[in-house]
Order: sequence, then structure tokens, then C-alpha cells
Amino acid sequence: MAKSDIEIAQEATMLPITEVAKKAGLGPEQLELYGNYKAKVDIHAFRDKPMRGKLILVTAINPTPAGEGKTTTSVGLEDALCRLGKNSMLCLREPSLGPVFGIKGGAAGGGYAQVVPMEDINLHFTGDFHAIGAANNLCAAMLDNHIKQGNSLGIDPRRIVWKRCVDMNDRQLRNVVDGLGGVANGMPREDGFDITVASEVMAVFCLATDLMDLKARLGRMVIAYTYDRKPVTVHDIHAEGAMTALLKDAIKPNLVQTLENNPAFVHGGPFANIAHGCNSVEATTTALKLADYVVTEAGFGADLGAEKFLDIKSRYANLHPDAVVLVATVRALKYNGGVPKAELTEENLDAVRAGLPNLLRHVSNITDVWGLPVVVAINAFPTDTKAELDLVARECGKLGVNVALSEVWAKGGEGGEALANEVIRLCDQPNDFRFAYDVDDTIANKVEAIATKVYHADGVDFTPKAARQMAQLEEQGFGKLPICVAKTQYSFTDDPKRLGAPEGFRITVRNLKVSAGAGFIVALTGDIMTMPGLPKVPAAEKIDVTPDGKIVGLF
Ligand code: ADP
Ligand code: MG
Repeated sequence: MAKSDIEIAQEATMLPITEVAKKAGLGPEQLELYGNYKAKVDIHAFRDKPMRGKLILVTAINPTPAGEGKTTTSVGLEDALCRLGKNSMLCLREPSLGPVFGIKGGAAGGGYAQVVPMEDINLHFTGDFHAIGAANNLCAAMLDNHIKQGNSLGIDPRRIVWKRCVDMNDRQLRNVVDGLGGVANGMPREDGFDITVASEVMAVFCLATDLMDLKARLGRMVIAYTYDRKPVTVHDIHAEGAMTALLKDAIKPNLVQTLENNPAFVHGGPFANIAHGCNSVEATTTALKLADYVVTEAGFGADLGAEKFLDIKSRYANLHPDAVVLVATVRALKYNGGVPKAELTEENLDAVRAGLPNLLRHVSNITDVWGLPVVVAINAFPTDTKAELDLVARECGKLGVNVALSEVWAKGGEGGEALANEVIRLCDQPNDFRFAYDVDDTIANKVEAIATKVYHADGVDFTPKAARQMAQLEEQGFGKLPICVAKTQYSFTDDPKRLGAPEGFRITVRNLKVSAGAGFIVALTGDIMTMPGLPKVPAAEKIDVTPDGKIVGLF
């Protein structure tokens, strides 16, 4: 039987993190050690260094519910680049405890393409998420205290948009009434919790370019509205300084290693629907100063993850990507070709073929919308048949699409050399990177541009409520921000059941809200769950610790 991810990870021979740091050109004076295998990096010394590295974005076709292996492919690609003698670094998101104990499992890669120590990375790691939760909840406490102490700002307790947060899948906390118990115990009001990774503090943390930018962004966050409907910000309750104090160490990128002892930053992890879904700007820009090649991942499929990476993160952080890796799996092609989840492991060439238009639409988006070169990485699963893998390669070849088979899950970096060679070739070509929309355009036109160019929709409908919100946001001066679409990850449309490459549909925007600190307008096409629940049998039931302190069952 194949070894589990945790078994492979625990058998790895890790190097002391000081040795790994040397490979990235980091000396001991730049490291703050968290034990022997984790360190935070003091990035002050690199502040004015140029970003010299090539930037490679790993994204995917519309996924199956199990994920298509973007993280796994990213780790394997980094190891493959290093095997080919390239000075390379990896930048990934930090996992949230919610999915670790729920269904999805860890987010540190898989098979022989993982970052380690995987138990630490998946659990408390260096405490960043706890710090983010504390900063978020400090703001909540100060907000309610302001109301209790006389409410000089005139905050309408029914129009508080700030929620408390905790890094746990806990549906019980979605909606709560707090402040009960009489005059001495606060002002009763309806409240709620989000999971920490869905908080705006997390998005701000990941987009901040330095400590002072972090503080300024925190200060701009809208937390409530007054009785006369004026926005109230964190700055209005004087909370941004203390919140930044709580985050000043967390904001330093975390250095760990791959199974093949190559350096990796694992830092920050915002949601990919109501936020932009990629690791911190601090980690990415620092890696680009240290390495010749930087591999990074964006959440969900390319319609959401790559779009936001390119139109939000790259815009704010002045990134100029050099190549895109589009991960596809035989099972996701079959899923997009109409095969139900339970039958994905059976050979089905017709379904693979039927799913290809989804892949091709993402490929042409990358080249035509954003002007970037792309290679499809076919992430080989043990259940794929040779006939299926050959079919994908052949069909892509016929259409002139670059494709490479990736076997990093089974073989580590060695299994990613074909992909790495293609990536290196693409990085040497000049490209014509551009954004999908002009940020100075109206909100309606920006959403329309994303929907028509990226999703291939016929157009966008705004519900009357969304149209009202749009007018208000423009009036409040938020009209010139980029757009963050919150939409299902399974489809180009806003309907998770319309798979493949649908035509003849419109997108409906039901809600618009500003994340003024993160610096984007969230356009919601439906209800997005910002506090998940646990499944009937949570993954947590299988996780345990042996008497010698070893963690088992973490998949
Ligand atoms: P994503 O980043 O796209 O969500 P991950 O890389 O986290 O996907 O992979 C999702 C799950 O699939 C993980 O449990 C991983 O171990 C597993 N996985 C990824 N690639 C393969 C593969 N080629 N063969 C078998 N399992 C894989
Ligand atoms: Mg991932």
C-alpha cells in the first residue's frame, strides 16, 4: 500500500533550517529560529534590493472537490528546478486548522512533493494565524467597548460589519447574540464569527508591502456604519497601532524546506472567494529578491485564483509573472466531462475528451487575456490509465498547447524535470503581461470585463440591492479599487453544476461590499460560507498522538 503523506513526511531527513537558509542566501543574522526546522526571516535587509527572479504562477483547471494538486505540483516543480541546478524558491499559503480537521486535509503538498515539518505547518506553525485572530478580535473588543462607553461615533449596532473570528470549522458560532447580562456586561447585539482565514485582517496581512503599509491598510478597514450610514473605520476607533503590534512578528515570512531540502516560504493564507487566495506579498517579493526562480500557487481554478493573483496581487505588489503552470488531472477532466465524483477512478476516454474544453478555455485565457506563456502540467494520479494520459497529451499537442507530464507526487523533483525544463524555456521568452481590466473604470465595467473575458459570460446582471450598493460604494470613493469575485470554484459560471466550458450564460451579482483595507471590492454571486462546519465524520476523529509525542492520522 502507498504510504500516506504524513508517513512520507515523517521519514524525511530534514536539514537544520540554518542550512536550508544558506541555499537561499540567508545568513543566521537574518533568521529568527522557531526550533530547528522553522524560522522567520527578517526581511529588513532586503527592503531595497531589486526583485530579480522569474515568477512562476501555478494554477489549475476547474477542480474536483478533492483538489487538483496545485500545491503538490508547486513543491515538485521547485524541487525539479533545484535538481536542474537552478536557484529556486517556493512560496505557499499557510494551511488553516478548519480544513485540517474537516474534510480537505492538509495543504502542505502530497506524496513525495511536500513541505516539512508537515505536522507543524498544518497545525500551529509559527502562530501567525493565532496572531491574526488576536488582532481581529482586539478590533472587535474595542468596537463594542466604544459603543458601551457612550458611542461618540454614533455607530449603529445593527450595521456592524466586523465579525469575531477563530481558526476552526465551527458552524455553531456563525450567528450569535452577545453582550447579554445587563448594563454592566455590554450592549446586546447580533454578532457572528468567521473562520480566521476569511477575515479581512488576513487579506490585509497578505497584501501589505511592509509594516507601515500593514498599519495603514488595517486603519482603512470599514468595521461598521453610523446611524446616518457613514462608514466607520479601524482608524476611527484608534485600533490599528495595537493590531499592528500584534502582527509585527507574524508578518515576517516563515522559512521551511521541501522533502528535498530546498527553501520554501509558507506565509499567510486568505480565502480564495471573498479574498484573493494567495500567500503574502512579503514572502513573494522577498523570494524574488533571493532566488532566480520563484514558484507560487493561487487558490481554486484559474478563473478565480489566477485572475486575482494577476489582477489584484500583481497589480498591488508590482509583480510581473514570467510563466503560468496550469495543473490538470485526468480526474478533473472527467469531472468536467460530466462523470460523477464516485466514478472518477474508472477509465473513461470519452469523458476525458469531453472535459478538454474546460482546460483549453483556461489556457487561452492565460495567453489572450493576460498575455502570459503557459504550460499544462498533467498531474499523474495512480488511478490514471496510460490511454487517458496519452489522450490528454495528444489532444493538447494537436492544438499547439504546451504540455508536460508531472509525476512529482510519485517521484518528487525527478518526476517534475520535464515540467521544469518547459518552465525555464517559457521564462526566457519576453511576454506581454497586462491586466484584465483598467482599475480606474467603473465597478460595473470591471465586473463585466472579468465576466466576459475570463468566464466567457454574455454579461452581468446586478440585483437591485447590488446596484444600490454599487452606487453607494462609488459615492463613498471606493469605485477605483480592483474587483474580487466570490463565485463557485467549480464552474466558469455562478452555478457549480455547469461544468466544462459553458456558453450562453450571464453572471448575477447579488451583493457588493468593500474590503477597504485589503483594497478591493468583493462582488458576491451567491452566499459564500465564511464559517465552515465540520462533516459528519471529521478528519479530526482520526488524528492522534503516540506516547512518544508523534502525531499520526494527519492523512
Ligand atoms: P490543491 O493545491 O490543488 O488543492 P493539493 O496539492 O493540496 O491540491 O492536493 C490535493 C490532495 O490530492 C492532497 O491530499 C494530495 O496528497 C493529493 N494528490 C495531489 N496530487 C496527487 C497525485 N498525483 N496522486 C495522488 N494524490 C495526489
Ligand atoms: Mg493548494
